[in-house]
This record gives sequence, C-alpha cells and structure tokens, in this order.
Amino acid sequence: MVDEAHKLGATVAVLDPDIDCPCHLNADKLIVGEYNDLEKLEELGDITNCLSYEFENVDGVTLSKLNDKYNIPQGITPLLVSQDRLKEKINANKNGLKTARYFDCSTLIDLKKAIKLLGYPCLYKTRREGYDGHGQVLIRNENDIEKVKPYLINHLGIVEEYIDFDYEVSVIIIRSKDKIITFPVGRNIHKNGILDICYVSQNNQELFKNLIKDSINFMVSADYYGILTIEYFVKGNEYYFNEMAPRPHNSGHYTIEGCNTNQFKELDKFLLNLTLEEPKLKNDVIMKNILGKDLCNLEKLKQIPNASVHMYGKKIQRELRKLGHITYLGLNLEEFRNYQKKLNIEE
Ligand code: AMP
Repeated sequence: MVDEAHKLGATVAVLDPDIDCPCHLNADKLIVGEYNDLEKLEELGDITNCLSYEFENVDGVTLSKLNDKYNIPQGITPLLVSQDRLKEKINANKNGLKTARYFDCSTLIDLKKAIKLLGYPCLYKTRREGYDGHGQVLIRNENDIEKVKPYLINHLGIVEEYIDFDYEVSVIIIRSKDKIITFPVGRNIHKNGILDICYVSQNNQELFKNLIKDSINFMVSADYYGILTIEYFVKGNEYYFNEMAPRPHNSGHYTIEGCNTNQFKELDKFLLNLTLEEPKLKNDVIMKNILGKDLCNLEKLKQIPNASVHMYGKKIQRELRKLGHITYLGLNLEEFRNYQKKLNIEE
C-alpha cells in the first residue's frame, strides 16, 4: 500500500507496535504504538488527511472513537462485523449469501445440541480472533468434544456444518462512490488452515460469473465501501460464504504481477478519491506463500521460471509465520507441481 501510494504521489504515515515492522523502511513516518493506544492513533489521525486500516484486529471501541473524529472512508462496520464469526455469517445470510449451517455455541449444552443437528464431522470455531485455523476444532466423533471444552471456559463460539467442498476461492471487490471493481477469482489451497498457494486461471473465470455477481450485490446490500475480500467454499454449482476481510488479502498478492492493476493500488485510489480501474488478468498465475518453514526451499523456489520474489523483512521468523511470497506469471498449477517434483520441493 505504501509503495503504490508513493507512485500516486501521496505520502504515508503508519502506526505499528513493532519498530521493525515491514513498513518501517518505506513509510514516510512510522509511529510506534499499540493498535488501541488512542493518543498515538490520534497523533496519526492529526497528521493525515485520510485515515484507514489494513489489519482486522484493531480494537472496535478504539476505532469507533477514531471514526467519530476522522471519518474513515470505508467506515468501521465491515471491520466490526468481520471480527465476529457469528455476526459475519448472520450478515452474509441477511445480504443474500449462502453459508454452511451454523449455531451459536457458548456452553456444552449448546455444543451437544448443535452436534445433534449437524452430525459428524462438524467444526467448532471461536467467534473472535480466529484466523488461519486458530481457535478451531474439527469434531469427528464424540471424543473430539473434549478438545472443545477448554475453549468453552472463556470463549464464545459457533458450531458449523462441515462442507466437503471441491475447492476454495476468494474474490476481492473494491467499491467507491461511483464504481465497483472485482479482481479475477483465485483458487486457494490451504495447508494446516493457512493459505499455501493461490492460483488464477484465464480459462475458468466464466465459472465464477454468478459468484462475482452475488459478491457485488452483497457489497451494495450491506452498504460497504472500500476493499472487501470474500472467501467461499465451492461444491459443484453451489458456493458458500466462509469469511470476509475488509483489507488487502493474501490471496490477492498475485495481482501485483498478474493483473494490469493490483489490489494495493486500487485501494489507495479509493482512499485518494481517484477513479478505479477495472482489473484484467494478464496470464495464468501462481502465488506461493513463504512461511518460516519454507525458507529451506527458497533457493529452489526461486529457480522456477518467472519467479517474482517478495520478502516482507520480518525479523522474527516463526515456522508458520508468513514471511513473503513468490508469484509465477505464466505458470499453471500442473506446471508448478511438476517443477516442485523436479526440484525435490515438498508439496
Ligand atoms: P477459516 O479460518 O474459517 O478460514 O478456516 C480455515 C480453513 O479451514 C478454511 O480455509 C478451510 O480449508 C477449513 N474450513 C473452515 N471451515 C470449514 C467448513 N465449514 N467445512 C470444511 N472446511 C472448513
């Protein structure tokens, strides 16, 4: 976002709790502060003429105070809704999107009732702070109920129908006052609940016509502006809303090389009140995430043709932390898998 904003002639100030955060080299000003430090956030608001967020764990109460004072262009409703899985699903249904069946669950009685209605397998998910598979339990049989019990002590949750989906996709939408754009739909492959690969194909975009139409209708019906990523499970001709994020999304990183314009640039243009450009896919494209555990394969992954490597400069490198990604333009999944085999890179 910072790099693209610079290209558009804007300067950028950033607030982050970490002095070594990925933005520290590029931003024009870095304010080091917690996401709920109102004084620091006001310092940021006072020096900027457009205040926004690109992280969903900013405290809702703090944000409401900021929104009253500074008028955040996309508002804070999509953020508050996306922070709570129950609200998120109710909101999706209310605005025309189908979800897996779900039930509110805060007690053992709720849990057992939901399991009776949904059957095995089903999933328990905490309502808040769950991402990349955190705060989730796959309940395959009665024994797995024990794994949910610790969460019931101090979490509100939901129990959700297990969807035996064919594949997962996401769509990124940006809405300004006079235009709505959508980026080509990417298919997402997760490993242990974390995005591993997103691949986008020129040939199958027709398949997603209705899904895109419903996503746009959702955005309008919910009265959201700015950027929104919606993740779906696809099974045959059906698609089920899974979750949404009102920020640039990992599954949209492919747009940097893969499209004529990218998610960061178009979001910046929304924030700067500039006219949005309709995204077009240049070619088949693959985005592979680099987690801490993938660093040992980095040199091999760079040898695959057309690799554009993006490392985020994160100092702390945990096994499952996203440290960067590589985009391969002009490669399809089969070709990528063949290179993985040839170079002895574990899938
Ligand atoms: P989430 O944090 O909800 O995105 O879940 C992480 C991953 O778990 C998803 O990307 C899916 O691969 C899997 N998952 C989540 N919910 C379901 C479900 N209802 N049925 C099947 N798989 C699911």
